[in-house]
This record gives sequence, C-alpha cells and structure tokens, in this order.
Amino acid sequence: MKTENLGFNTKLIHAGVFEDEFGSATVPIYQTSTFKFKNAQHGADCFAGKSDGYIYTRIGNPTIRAFEKNIAELENGFDGIATSSGMGAISTVYMALLGAGSHIVSSDAVYGPARGVLEQDFSRFGVEASFVNTSNIENIEKAIKSNTKVLYIETPANPTMDITDIAACAEIAKQHNLILVVDNTFSSPYLQKPLDLGADVVLHSITKFINGHADIVGGVIVTKNPDIYKKIRHCMVYLGCNMDPTQSFMVLRGVKTLAIRIERAQENAMKVAKFLQSHPKIEWLRYPGLETHPQYELAKKQMKGPGSMMSFGLKGGFEAGKKLMDNVHLALLAVSLGGVETLIQHPASMTHAAVSKENKLAAGITDDLVRFSVGIEDVEDIIADLKHGLDKI
Ligand SMILES: *Cc1c(COP(=O)(O)O)cnc(C)c1O
Repeated sequence: MKTENLGFNTKLIHAGVFEDEFGSATVPIYQTSTFKFKNAQHGADCFAGKSDGYIYTRIGNPTIRAFEKNIAELENGFDGIATSSGMGAISTVYMALLGAGSHIVSSDAVYGPARGVLEQDFSRFGVEASFVNTSNIENIEKAIKSNTKVLYIETPANPTMDITDIAACAEIAKQHNLILVVDNTFSSPYLQKPLDLGADVVLHSITKFINGHADIVGGVIVTKNPDIYKKIRHCMVYLGCNMDPTQSFMVLRGVKTLAIRIERAQENAMKVAKFLQSHPKIEWLRYPGLETHPQYELAKKQMKGPGSMMSFGLKGGFEAGKKLMDNVHLALLAVSLGGVETLIQHPASMTHAAVSKENKLAAGITDDLVRFSVGIEDVEDIIADLKHGLDKI
C-alpha cells in the first residue's frame, strides 16, 4: 500500500507492510538465511544491483525490509537500516562516517557505551572525540576543529534530561560541513522528527519506545541522503550487525501501537511529575513537561510532547536512592526504558557504580539521581507505589 501521503498513525500500521501471495494481514517471519536465484543470470543481476531480489539475510530479508521501510516513513527519511541493537546502529554510523584522523563532537551525556566505544575503541584507529554539553550551543562551536566530520547529539539526554536544539545544531553542521546525527531513542518519531529539523541521520535503540514491550533488543538508522545511506548500509552488512527476521517481526508488531502507548505513558508521566514536584522528600525534578525544566520552551518547540521519562533527586542522597529502590514493588528495578511497564533505576548505585565520582558529576549524574520511565499502568497505582517507597526513606 502507498502510505507516503497518509497520516502518522496510519503509517504506524501500514507503512512497509507488503502483500504476499496468501493475502497475509501482517508481514510473516521469513526465517531463512539464504534465497534461491531463478537462474545464473538472476544471481548475477542480484549481485550487480540490477535486480531487487534477495540474496542472503545479512544483506537483506523481506521481514527486515518491511520494518526498515516502515521506520523510514515514520522519520520522513529516504530509507532505513535495521541493526541487531541500538549499539549496533551507533557503531555502524561511527564506522561509516569516521576514519583515521577525523574528529567527532558529541553530547557529553550520551548513552554510556556510545561514548565508551569512541574513547576505548575508535581511538585505537585514530578517531578523535570531544564531549561537550550540547544543550549550550556555544560549547559545540568551540569544540569544532578543522578535522571534525560528525556532530552527534542525544536529546533528551540520558539520564539528565538535558535538551539540545536540533535546528540550531543543523545550522552549525551546515556551516562547518558536518554530518548531524541524532539519537532519537528517548522521543521516538512520534514526539520528535530530527530529519525534519535538519539532521542528516537519525538512529534509535528500538529496544525502547519503538518496540515498547521489553521483549527484544534492536536498532535502526534512517537517513535522508542516498549517499550517506549507501555508506552506512555497506558498513552494516560488512560488520554483520543486521537485525534478524524474528526481531523485525516483533518490532513491526510493537511499532503499530507507538502513538497510543506514548500518549498514555505521557499522560501518566505528567501526573507522576506533579506528584513528585510537591513531595517533601524530593530535592529536584527534571521533566520536560514542567516549566521548571531549564529548557521547557525548547522542548515545546521541537517535541510534540514531553514524553514519559524523568529524573529526580532525593533529599537523602545515595542512601535514600537505595532505600527507594528496595521499597517500590510495581516499578521494576531495571535498566532500559520506554516499555509498557514502569521502570526505576538509581544510576549511582547501579549502572554508573563503577564510574569515578568526577566523571559521574561531569555527566550530571549525582548520587541522589533516580531515573524513572513511566509505563501505561493505572497512574493511581504508579503513584501509590512511589509514595510507599518514599515514605520508607
Ligand atoms: C538503550 C540505548 C542505546 C543502546 O541501545 P541497545 O539496544 O541497548 O544497544 C542507545 N541510545 C540510547 C539513548 C539508549 O537509551
């Protein structure tokens, strides 16, 4: 079905879905590693790119293609490239766009391994990286060097909820001939469309909102530029971090409810934020839907809604954080985010326990910070659970 001119909610359900000989309503799992050529000439044409036929699942597969086309339409891009994980998408993009002697400017509060792989691994191949607080645009201008090739931002950032101005970054990228890459995981294309705001590449951990059910890991990259697309696809195929057909089937199912899941989670999040804001044991709260967020106006400008992620600080610091973790029962004590279930996490005692205090503080991760991913349960139950946990501190 041609869906380019249809609405976002219609695209969620129908974009990328193709008709097969049985009239299947959904895209089946093409669980095959390889594809039979019709004859020698057909095989030759497939390899030469003169025929659309499939060759081998690492290179392409009908179930995976359906998801790639679906997400490309949701992000208003040229085409999509599905990967085994969000980190697979990030590593593939770095590999395609950077090389020995090149430099990348990145948000400092990016997803931890997105920074780690640059510092620990790409550095071994002569790639330089600078990490700055990109929510202040001047920091980006100052960090750009003659060999800078990529500007990489994550907004809202994890777990500080800092917001970076995508359109302003696109302007800077254009002036300095950089490729602007946006990790859009926290918003999903329902709330934010970086390509429309001038970004060149957008990527996701589909493990989070896009799949939304905490049952698979995966990633995807969308670009609006056919040349960049070719480079990135080449690297994905050569690195071998393709998505597999079953993952694609799962996410094609998950993505259909993206809009209604986010609407409900966001409605819950606003109520949770209001409850926390006035609670005596809360020191501070960062939620882009409240005017107390330092970039509330920017969030309103570039996002369709504030989403369902927030972070807050507890008056009792580190020990209070641990106490809260041990006394909530509905919220799952777990990393990840963006699922139908509410998740809670205390970075200082969990994900970032091994990070030095200095580096934690530099990335805005204080001992009292709690990250909360609001799910789609009844909001009264979510609030009662938090209240119970806070009362125990
Ligand atoms: C989880 C996450 C990633 C990494 O994704 P995986 O699917 O776990 O590899 C990247 N960016 C952000 C913002 C994330 O939340």
